[in-house]
Amino acid sequence: MTRAYNFSAGPATLPETVLEQAGAELLDWHGAGASIVELSHRGPEFMQVASEAEADLRTLLSVPDDYAVLFLSGGATTQQALIPLNFAAPGQAADYVVTGHWGKTAIKQAHPYVSANVAADGEAGGFRDIPARADWRLSDDAAYVHVTANETIHGVEFRDTPDVGDVPLIADFSSSIASEPVDVSRYAMIYAGAQKNLGPVGVSVVIVRREPLERSGQPRAPIFEYARHAQSGSMLNTPPTFNWYLAGLVFKWMLAEGGVEEFARRNQRKADALYAAIDGSGGFYRNEVAPAVRSRMNVPFFLHDDGLDKAFLAEAKEAGLISLKGHRALGGMRASIYNAMPEAGVRALVGFMDEFRQRHG
Ligand code: PMP
Repeated sequence: MTRAYNFSAGPATLPETVLEQAGAELLDWHGAGASIVELSHRGPEFMQVASEAEADLRTLLSVPDDYAVLFLSGGATTQQALIPLNFAAPGQAADYVVTGHWGKTAIKQAHPYVSANVAADGEAGGFRDIPARADWRLSDDAAYVHVTANETIHGVEFRDTPDVGDVPLIADFSSSIASEPVDVSRYAMIYAGAQKNLGPVGVSVVIVRREPLERSGQPRAPIFEYARHAQSGSMLNTPPTFNWYLAGLVFKWMLAEGGVEEFARRNQRKADALYAAIDGSGGFYRNEVAPAVRSRMNVPFFLHDDGLDKAFLAEAKEAGLISLKGHRALGGMRASIYNAMPEAGVRALVGFMDEFRQRHG
């Protein structure tokens, strides 16, 4: 069996040791006589899995005690709709900083429940940069400010947590959570679909300060209330147990590898190598994002002649490098290099890109 280096943006590559462990445990989880996905979510086996996963994620991200950590079904998009329901009074304004496709999605989902003010928007510049903080037009009475920490399609990321004063800051960390240390206390809420850095699609992680949940929001069904999910340990209904379990294995792997500090170092080296290959290609490859905000997780790039795209993808696949096709909104290529992409995978990609350029340049 040979596994390719998989540069998919999500669902994305997972650590091989995690897949092996999940495979080995699938028929009989630790002598339970059944797999973990065949047992009650309220039974002692899954309760152990669930609480270890939460504890490990708290350790990884140094989550303060006054924050709840939720494991919810529904992707990041569902959270984008739940945010205004939980944080904004009916008709209240909320500020959105749009730095790519997913920031726009966040507004679309929030629109029925909140008066969304676009405080800054990078679209006129093709989302190749992040509008300067000094140019943001924040509203006086906003319920929250929403940002996308890393834009998965446009390959643009915040390098620092923006200062928005006392207004609750909410960030979509779907494609960069646990890729480096984060000061959770600067945010009212961090959310992420799991399928990039944390595990399989089907579970979202929500890290949310408990206090505002008790007082804000608007009429909503109990299943849409973060406060109730927090009170019930994410077991208001049947949680996505397999996804939660697999994410838990990924958390243990990340801790064993040295935690988010170590992944930050690896991710920086991987990104440096890939951007250097692109920038040093004499224009054969190009990335158009302002260097200061280039994503270390998702690297979109274009060939100088898009007539070569098909050959690039086919030959890359032959070389054991898959899922490099860019998102349809941008075209070109995209290499997603999350925590589980080994440095050897990026070296192989860079080697292939050099060799392809020599053959087709
Ligand atoms: N936000 C970001 C930054 C994403 O990358 C994605 C998915 N690619 C989403 C939101 C939407 O996630 P989901 O499909 O889990 O709803």
